[in-house]
Amino acid sequence: MSLTTKGDLHKTVNDAVAASGRRLVIVSNRLPVVLARSNGTLQIQAGSGGLVTALAPVLRNRGGLWVGWPGTIDEDEEEVGPLIKQVSKRAGFSFNPVLLNSREVDLYYHGFSNEIIWPLFHDLQSRCNFNPDYWRSYQEVNRKFARKVMEQVHDDDYIWVHDYHLLQVAKGLRELGCKAPLGFFLHIPFPPLDIFIKLPWRFQVLRALLEYDLLGFQTMRDRRNFIHCIRSLLKDVHVHASGSLHVCHAGAREIRVGCFPISIDFDEFERLASDRDVAEEAWYIHEAHPDQKMVLGVDRLDYTKGIPYRLEAFRVFLRQHPELHRKVTMIQIVVPSRIDIPKYHDLKMEIERLVGEINGEFTQSGWVPIYYVFRRLRKKELLSYYRTSEIALITPIKDGMNLVAKEYSASNIEERGVLILSEFAGAASQLQRFALLVNPYDVEGVAAAIHEAVIMPESERRARMRRMRRGIKRQDVFWWVRSFLSAAISVELVDFPLIYEYLPTAEFIEEGISI
Ligand code: UDP
Repeated sequence: MSLTTKGDLHKTVNDAVAASGRRLVIVSNRLPVVLARSNGTLQIQAGSGGLVTALAPVLRNRGGLWVGWPGTIDEDEEEVGPLIKQVSKRAGFSFNPVLLNSREVDLYYHGFSNEIIWPLFHDLQSRCNFNPDYWRSYQEVNRKFARKVMEQVHDDDYIWVHDYHLLQVAKGLRELGCKAPLGFFLHIPFPPLDIFIKLPWRFQVLRALLEYDLLGFQTMRDRRNFIHCIRSLLKDVHVHASGSLHVCHAGAREIRVGCFPISIDFDEFERLASDRDVAEEAWYIHEAHPDQKMVLGVDRLDYTKGIPYRLEAFRVFLRQHPELHRKVTMIQIVVPSRIDIPKYHDLKMEIERLVGEINGEFTQSGWVPIYYVFRRLRKKELLSYYRTSEIALITPIKDGMNLVAKEYSASNIEERGVLILSEFAGAASQLQRFALLVNPYDVEGVAAAIHEAVIMPESERRARMRRMRRGIKRQDVFWWVRSFLSAAISVELVDFPLIYEYLPTAEFIEEGISI
C-alpha cells in the first residue's frame, strides 16, 4: 500500500483502529495540558507538540481517553475536574487527571523516575540513588495510575502506556482485572545487561514489563539490550524472532517486542521554517555574526546531553584551527530543566565556567567564539536558529532519540546545513548515512568533525541534507503512530519500519562490544 498525504496517513491509522473496533487510551506521566495558577486562579491550556498532534486524530476518532498527571502538586480534584472537562471538550477527546501530592512527586517522580531509572537507563549508574522509599512510592503511584485508567476503560479499548515513569502500570491493571490489550513505548534508551542488573528491583521491573502485550523501543540497540536481559535473567521466558518483531513466551502469554523510532511533524517544521517572521528573525540572528559559520547546539540542561565534552571539543577545534578564528561561532542554547536539583545546578556552573574560559582564551575585538543562551526559546525563535545555522552539533552521551536532530533537518529548508550527531543518540540509527557521526567522548574526533563540516563543499552538504530530510519526512511522527498501532492491533503491517543498527566498525561487532 502506498500512502502519499498526511490525510491518507490519518485515515489509515483511524481505519485500522476503527476496524479493530477499539477505542484508544493513552497513559503518560504528564497530560498534554498546561495547568498553572495566576493570581490564585487555576488556569488550563491544551498542550501542543508532535506527540499530541499525531495522536489527536486517532483519539478523536472514537472518543479516546488520555490519562496522566496535570503537572501541579497538591491540587484539589473539585477545582481541577471542571477545568479538565472544558479542555477535553475543546480537544474532542477526554482527559482523566491523576493528581499527585508533594510526597508522591518527590519520591515517584524526582526520586525513582529521575534519580534511578533516568540515569541508569542512560548508562550512568554512578548517578543513581537506589533509595528503597523511591521504589515503594513508584509502585504505589503506578497503581494509582492503573486505578484511574480502570475508572473509564473497557475490555475492548486499546491501552497505550508511555515511558519510564510508568513501567509498572500494566501490572497494576492486570491486578485490577483489566483484560484490554496493553502496549508500552519506552522513549528513553534501554541499558545493556551489565548496567540493568545494578537495579535492586531488576526482576520486578522485567516481570512487570512482560504484563504488556506489545513493547516498543526506539532502536535495535535498545531492543537487543532488553531481549538480552530477558534471556539472561528470566530463564522461564523464551524469545524468538518473528518477522520484524521479537516474541517473548511467558507461560501462556505472548509479548511482542519491536523498534519504533519516534519522530516529529516534519511538514509543520518545514512550513513554520518558511514563515516570513522566521526568515526575518533568522536573517537578524545571522547578521549579528557576519561572515561566520554558526555551529548550533540546543539542549535541555541535562548531564546526558554531553554539553561539557562538546565545549571541550570546540576548544580543541579553535586551538587546532587559528585560521578559522572569526569565521566560526558556536551558539549554545541550554533550556533550564530541574535547576533546583543540586546536580543540575552544578552542571550549569560547569557549562558557564567552560564558556567563560573558552571565550576568555579566544575572544577578539568583534568576535566572541561562543554565544550562550540559557532560557527556553519561543518556537519561532528556535526555528530561526535552526534555519540560519550552517552546522548543528548534537552530541549527547546517550539519548533515546533526540528530536532536535530531526527538527534541525526539517527546518533546514535551504538544504545547506550539516548535522554532526552522536553515535549514541537514537537518531543515529536512522540518520547515520547522512549526518557526520561522532563519539561525543572523543573531543579530538568531534573537533575534526566540526572542521570537516566547516569546509564541506556545498554539493556534498546539499546531497546529505536532501536525503536526510526525505527520510525524516517519510518516517515522521504520524508514521510512528501508525507503525506502533499497526503492530498493536495486528492489522496488516503497512510500511513497517526499516531500522538499522549503528556500529562504528566491523571490529566492534566481532569483539562484541555493545553500544
Ligand atoms: N525545545 C523547546 N524550546 C527550546 C529548545 C528546545 O521547546 O528553547 C524543544 C525542541 O523543539 C525538542 C525538545 O525541546 O522538541 C527536546 O527534545 P529532545 O528529544 O531533543 O530531547 P529531550 O529534552 O526530550 O531529552
